Amino acid sequence: MRRVEESRLMSPAQGHIVLLAPLTGPVVPLANVPDPVFSGGMFGDGIGIDPLVGKLVAPCDATVTHLARTGHAVTLRTDDGAEILLHIGIDTVELNGKGFAPMIEQGAQVRAGDVLIEFDQDQIACAAPSLVSVVAIANSDAFEVVERAAGGMVVAGETPLLVLRAREGAAADASREASVVVDEARRHVTLAHAGGLHARPAARAREAARGFDARVEVRYDGRKAPVESVVGLLGLGAGEGATIELLGIGRQADAAVEAVARELLREAHGEVEEKPARHSSPAPLVAAASGGAVLAPNTLAGVCAAPGVAVGKLVRWDDADLDPPEQASGTSAAESRLLDKALATVDAELNTTVRDASQRGAVGEAGIFTVHRVLLEDPTLIDAARDLISLSKSAGFAWRSAIRAQIAVLAKLDDALLAERAADLRDIEKRVLRALGYTNSVARTLPDEAVLAAEEFTPSDLSSLDRTRVTAIVMARGGATSHAAIIARQIGIPALVAVGDTLLAIPDGTQVVVDASAGRLEYAPSALDVERARLERTRLADVREANRRVSQQAVTTRDGHAVEIAANIATLDDAKAAVDNGADAVGLLRTELLFIHRQTAPRVDEHRDSYQSIVDALNGRTAIIRTLDVGADKEVDYLTLPPEPNPALGLRGIRLAQVRPDLLDDQLRGLLAVRPIGAVRILLPMVTDAGELIRLRARIDELARESGRTEPIEVGVMIEVPSAALLADQLSQHADFLSIGTNDLTQYTLAMDRCQADLAAQSDGLHPAVLRLVAATVQGAQKHGKWVGVCGALAGDPLAVPLLIGLGITELSVDPVAVPGIKARVRNLDYQLCRQRAQDALALDSAQAVRAVSREVWPLD
Ligand code: PEP
Ligand code: MG
Repeated sequence: MRRVEESRLMSPAQGHIVLLAPLTGPVVPLANVPDPVFSGGMFGDGIGIDPLVGKLVAPCDATVTHLARTGHAVTLRTDDGAEILLHIGIDTVELNGKGFAPMIEQGAQVRAGDVLIEFDQDQIACAAPSLVSVVAIANSDAFEVVERAAGGMVVAGETPLLVLRAREGAAADASREASVVVDEARRHVTLAHAGGLHARPAARAREAARGFDARVEVRYDGRKAPVESVVGLLGLGAGEGATIELLGIGRQADAAVEAVARELLREAHGEVEEKPARHSSPAPLVAAASGGAVLAPNTLAGVCAAPGVAVGKLVRWDDADLDPPEQASGTSAAESRLLDKALATVDAELNTTVRDASQRGAVGEAGIFTVHRVLLEDPTLIDAARDLISLSKSAGFAWRSAIRAQIAVLAKLDDALLAERAADLRDIEKRVLRALGYTNSVARTLPDEAVLAAEEFTPSDLSSLDRTRVTAIVMARGGATSHAAIIARQIGIPALVAVGDTLLAIPDGTQVVVDASAGRLEYAPSALDVERARLERTRLADVREANRRVSQQAVTTRDGHAVEIAANIATLDDAKAAVDNGADAVGLLRTELLFIHRQTAPRVDEHRDSYQSIVDALNGRTAIIRTLDVGADKEVDYLTLPPEPNPALGLRGIRLAQVRPDLLDDQLRGLLAVRPIGAVRILLPMVTDAGELIRLRARIDELARESGRTEPIEVGVMIEVPSAALLADQLSQHADFLSIGTNDLTQYTLAMDRCQADLAAQSDGLHPAVLRLVAATVQGAQKHGKWVGVCGALAGDPLAVPLLIGLGITELSVDPVAVPGIKARVRNLDYQLCRQRAQDALALDSAQAVRAVSREVWPLD
């Protein structure tokens, strides 16, 4: 190797490497080399020469680490570890060795000026697109070009062409690394399959190229994209019948190109499964009910989350644009981290979706979301977003701009199938923006009688609704006891959940009939169906009105057994609604919902003021106020809990006090300050055993003493974990009352996520196992003379009411609007019959059987 000190034409510093021209001819700047693979730097930095003489010589002392099988290219390695590719002509791999005569063998040691390959210029010039040859630094990450010949003629083995310098910290590594073998492979593939290079074959091609030590680029019609960028591949617009070129570079170029070609040809021959139907295919088909029964045409089945019938126009709620601010509020590094975190969150979500879909055998759905995962890590998108972040744009703005740029590319392609991929990009745009914390809860103008549809509503979506215009809420996913469903019931708007993705394919503005009570949505209904639905709505409204007229009176069963009908509330408005509807008390105030929009945790005085105003609004009725129940499906903006693998089994409910005792203390101080004394009882969520209760009670007593209060405050325990139901007798020794949270008790007893749409129909609190735990709770409480209420959704289920009363429940806490209807139901019951039938129900073998018996004994209106 000729060291820098020996060079007379350039004057490089010590330790630099001089490469002499390996060919004689005029210099061509790399950017002008007529092949985008070289000019784009895919092989590394370097320079071109248009050779006038058919001899390639060594530019320095080196080892021949690779000689192309076809003799058109050679890779050398210097003692310092620089890897130099010498490539004669353009696309000359396709000459298959014709015109090339290698003079050395792989592994040979060569000295500067030694002839490496002789070649027949005329023959090659006739067969290849160009004779321009390239000297490229294959490990440009370790070595940089610090000087290059300015232009003009260079003479092989004499004129210094490039000066290299090891990049800081990279030289030692580079010299230790195994040699970079730069081979290339090219292949043309004609896309015979329908749709051409659309998302799925693109994702498969990407997968096929994985694991090879080679980079593969796909070229079509003057455009190119790395195979790992599905977005880039889609942007090529290579439709059915297009011939694309695959170009591989690297040690395993041949194998990588072959693998990609094989995958694309396999697709063409139909060896892969049928293209999955997109969830947004324009015409939803007849849906099958969850029980397998075929529904009427244009009808989708769902699970009732809030009863009622509605007619209206479908409005896609979660389709509005999210609008992140352009400028970053933090440093570029911080924004970059935010983006990484959001991408990881969405990837985890999609992973779960794919896994769930696969387990259900929903191959199409799994396929769609697998592609979404691939898009999420697409280098084209991520690089573009990072570039914008480095220009001080916010992570959200950068991500949205990167996606929009690709959507614009796809839109230009005039290919319906590829343009449809824009929907996938929009989907991941929104998911990531949501993961970054953006929501579209801003007020939107809704038509009258809007039926809002979304994949899933969050509690905050619903709490900001214009209730005067919304007639029903429908969700593709979700469960009947999710918090969004609870809010829908509180608002008194019919709600249907777990309808499935087909819901999202119904065009905006389509007229629909939602019969939430029957678990059905009919789209584009006939005039007759609309008429029927409106009549039913009127009839139900009349019944409600009749019930309301007597709802202020306390109720007993026909045979005189008293039952308190209380209300579940979350806000001051709900408290007023509870009074209007005749609730005897408040059986559950979900305080986490009271502060859901806050960015900071409420202070003691804020707690006190909120509860005081609610108590004042209740006009002498008592309120059971539950301490913060955050975690799992209940998130509040001011509290970011550390990610948990299993949030429903993690730090939720009262367990939060283990990590944030200050939050509970502040709340308890606020609660203890409410007047008059006796108006408020405390309810502790997610208690597991008596030890926990004893500790919490001691803390409450301590805080009461600190505040100077001498009167005791009643403390109750929610029974929503099976262990609490089983230990009800122990808990009742220390608690003043028990309140069964059937939403969670069902979830934890049946091991069914309360928000899991696929399980929504099975996750039924009338399951005999849940009823047995209710019975056990009552027995345990009765031993110590304590009363038991139910504040889960089951309390408001007309089919459950007689059974719960029969099992010994003396308080039912339901949504305010449901109070008149439940009171009317109780008035018509016979307590002795309820007792008998409830005992029988414990022996039945399914929730459906329990429902069937209840419906038969106590028919619904
Ligand atoms: C329940 O779990 O039944 C309950 C009332 O609490 P939440 O729905 O708020 O979890
Ligand atoms: Mg609960």
